[in-house]
Amino acid sequence: MDGKALAERIRAEVKDEVASVSGGLGLATILVGDDPASEIYIRLKHKAAQEAGIRSNDMRLPEETAEEEVLERIAALNDDEAVDGILVQLPLPEHLDEARVIRAVEPQKDVDGIHPLNAGLLYLGRPTLVPATPVGIMALLAEYDIELKGAKAVVVGRSDIVGKPVALLLLQQHATVTICHSRTRDLAGETLEADVLVVATGQPGLVTADMVKHGATVIDVGMNRTDAGLVGDVDAAAMDVAGHMTPVPGGVGPMTIACLLRNTVRAAQFRTKTLAFPAG
Ligand code: NDP
Repeated sequence: MDGKALAERIRAEVKDEVASVSGGLGLATILVGDDPASEIYIRLKHKAAQEAGIRSNDMRLPEETAEEEVLERIAALNDDEAVDGILVQLPLPEHLDEARVIRAVEPQKDVDGIHPLNAGLLYLGRPTLVPATPVGIMALLAEYDIELKGAKAVVVGRSDIVGKPVALLLLQQHATVTICHSRTRDLAGETLEADVLVVATGQPGLVTADMVKHGATVIDVGMNRTDAGLVGDVDAAAMDVAGHMTPVPGGVGPMTIACLLRNTVRAAQFRTKTLAFPAG
């Protein structure tokens, strides 16, 4: 499944939409500290935003920044009419209360879809701003006409940013969903049942070819930097068993970036009231 090609198409669509908004669009990111992986992700997001014609504001704060200072910066961005989307790069340094920082972002500008209001609306089946990776996964499944209604979907991983939201989106598409995690007793027994298997664990090669049902659709979310380069959570040999599978790199990763841009367009629609933000 070619995430790169679909992501390019989405980015071109976003570029056209951005060009049609008078005054343009703005995306602000906040990175606290200098985590090398976070630096890479932030750089990619800004490059993509700029290519789509979105103004991007790359705020960097030192590791030791006090929580009140971070909250003040977020409040200023909330009030800034030139900023449509705000993204706080996670993980935050230990001394910061992640939940409190996330709650400080105006829900209508929460392009990561992790504010409790947005997470709650997703749970209630009224998705507004949804985390970009799950949105990208669903777009890939739609692009390849993968039947979800009545299908058995297994999600390995239960994070707030990937596992749980993708499970909810699959459920909304009428899949029968099982969520697995590190305490799951018989992981292979579960994955072998899956018509659609989504793996987001951060464990390189956790799912091997013999854990995949013949013809299944496999979405490998993992992005693990190893001596062998960037590898997923699913052994590449599973490609021979799967009917469809996303490669790493070139699968989910590019879709995440494209869908973050799409979320920024959506946030701008909330700001300009072309789209109503649900009251909650
Ligand atoms: P988290 O670390 O937040 O969550 C990992 C999940 O995997 C947890 O629920 C954990 O279970 C589960 N898990 C860990 N080990 C096992 C195991 N042996 N068997 C079964 N389940 C296990 O990770 P994220 O969801 O944030 O990210 C997952 C991966 O996806 C990472 O590689 C990350 O880099 C990548 N990623 C890629 C993106 C992209 O755009 N391609 C975007 C976001 C993430 P438990 O809850 O019990 O601890």
